[in-house]
This record gives sequence, structure tokens and C-alpha cells, in this order.
Amino acid sequence: MAYAYDDQNIFAKILRGEIPNNTVLETEYTLAFRDISPKAPEHVLVIPKGPYVTFDHFCNAASNAEILDFTRTAGQVCKMIGAAPDGTGSGFRAITNAGEDGVQEVPHYHLHILAGRPMGPMLLMR
Ligand code: 5GP
Repeated sequence: MAYAYDDQNIFAKILRGEIPNNTVLETEYTLAFRDISPKAPEHVLVIPKGPYVTFDHFCNAASNAEILDFTRTAGQVCKMIGAAPDGTGSGFRAITNAGEDGVQEVPHYHLHILAGRPMGPMLLMR
């Protein structure tokens, strides 16, 4: 089965400029902006500008240029928010949710970068 991209999702509207966003960094292929409902003192969403639904969709279908740009932009964001644990920041958590079991709300691939406090256990055990 192929992925079907819904161009009415909220991030598609942000990319078209129909909904405002608090941009952290924008490049040719990537947009990073602040989450509207932050779960940590720093909570940035990094999204590709192309129509990719999930992480695996992006990994398998995006061009090398898009993947390179996305990865470098995400790395730059970690530095910009002071989270890079390279002696300047104290770390971050990067999360991507995909599909039903991943509890993905917005069907446009996004990487959450969370920082500014200890993140606790990786997952709640149920
Ligand atoms: P998901 O659950 O799909 O991994 O995460 C979706 C994220 O998008 C949530 O953290 C939610 O707060 C964020 N979000 C939803 N609508 C908007 C919006 O209109 N603007 C911004 N900046 N973030 C949004």
C-alpha cells in the first residue's frame, strides 16, 4: 500500500502560510517551529516541506537532498535551543510518532525536539 498524503492537515496549512507559526529555522526543504502546546521548556517540531506522512515514508521516499537538509536542520535546532550535549547544553529528546500505535495526531512527518528539563523514562510502561 502506498501512503496517501492529506493536504488539509494542519502542518500542510502552516507550510502554505494559511496558519501562522513561530519559526525557529527555515531552509529550502525544511521548517522548524515551536509546538503550540509545548511539553517541555523547549519543544520544537521539525518538518520536511514535502508531502510525507511518517518517518518511514520520508526515509523511503524523500530525495537525498531533502533528507540531508532535514537532518542538518534538526541538528542546527538542537544547537539553537541550547540543548546540544556537547559541553554547551544538557541534552534533549527527539521523538517521532507514526500511525495508530505511535499515536500520531498530525499526518505530516514531524520530529519533536524536547529540551530544558530531564525527560524521564523513555516510555510509560502499561
Ligand atoms: P503528534 O501527536 O502528531 O506526534 O504531534 C503533533 C503535535 O503538533 C502536538 O505536539 C501538537 O501540540 C502540535 N500541534 C498541533 N496543532 C498545531 C498548530 O496549529 N501549530 C503548532 N505549532 N503545533 C501544533
